[in-house]
Amino acid sequence: MKSVDLIVPCYNESDVLDLFYKEVCSVIEKSSEYSFSFIFVNDGSRDNTLEIIENYAANDSRVKYLSFSRNFGKEAGMLAGMTYSTADYVGIIDADLQHSPELFLEMLEAVDKEGYDVAAARRTDRKGEAKIKSAFSRRFYSVINKMSDVKIEEGAQDFRVMTQKVVRAICSLPEYNRFSKGIFSWVGFRTKWFEHENRERAAGQTKWSFIKLLKYAIEGIIGFSTAPLKISFLSGMLFSVIGLLYAVYIFIDTIINGPDVAGYPSIICLIIFLGGLILVSLGIIGEYVSKIYLEVKHRPIYLIDKTNIRDDNQ
Ligand code: UDP
Ligand code: MG
Repeated sequence: MKSVDLIVPCYNESDVLDLFYKEVCSVIEKSSEYSFSFIFVNDGSRDNTLEIIENYAANDSRVKYLSFSRNFGKEAGMLAGMTYSTADYVGIIDADLQHSPELFLEMLEAVDKEGYDVAAARRTDRKGEAKIKSAFSRRFYSVINKMSDVKIEEGAQDFRVMTQKVVRAICSLPEYNRFSKGIFSWVGFRTKWFEHENRERAAGQTKWSFIKLLKYAIEGIIGFSTAPLKISFLSGMLFSVIGLLYAVYIFIDTIINGPDVAGYPSIICLIIFLGGLILVSLGIIGEYVSKIYLEVKHRPIYLIDKTNIRDDNQ
């Protein structure tokens, strides 16, 4: 029998975890072809998420868990789950029931029976989401796909099933700044896409504020593209050329018409404009330097406080 690990990143999910666990159990129990295990990753929750998970683990031998020493973010949670997974097939699913367990089974079949290495869900609509959020999100995909070499599917979600081979490939990428959507696409492999309707969260609240999403978007662009550096270089070149031509023009004008003391406003405008441009360019370089700084420190991506998984499979 093929084994399946179901990774569930959880951050303050005590309101929804029972619903999730019951629904997923009832779905996977219908399928007798696979042996399922859960890998719950408690990402430093401040509510009693960990107690709930420990309780499941005490009564259900399929439940494994990892608990972080603090909140490290969903990216770290997914990585930890994948690092500790040993099953033939590995799935990632949100704890809030926005990802349908029935679709999970369909995705699993695609990987198991149709020869795909990855089955991933793509969101078809953005119902129940703020207009401004969807607009920003759409822009983000168009910008990152123009700037970067890897193609990121619009609406791609972290909801997916992979073979152990793909999971090993993903875990072999050592970077500290992990933008999973980019990493999933960077590793390649044969992927089948599933359209997935947006479902309301079953209970609890989203952990993604607008600012958090904006930071995530910048992370994605900086992590998977060096185009911003080229843009700042090219605009620097462009303005140097304009400045040079302007200097030549002033030189000739002075010879023909004599010196001119007017032009104070234009100088101020130029200074402010170019000053701004220089600061923006430095800022862009700074973003990359700060990422390099974090990478060279080689800090662990997460720290585990408690787990019921024996370390010998790590
Ligand atoms: N999550 C996590 N760590 C975080 C934020 C979120 O493990 O720092 C988990 C969360 O518990 C959920 C999943 O990631 O299972 C998706 O989070 P959420 O539902 O808040 O995001 P949304 O669906 O609104 O994008
Ligand atoms: Mg959600």
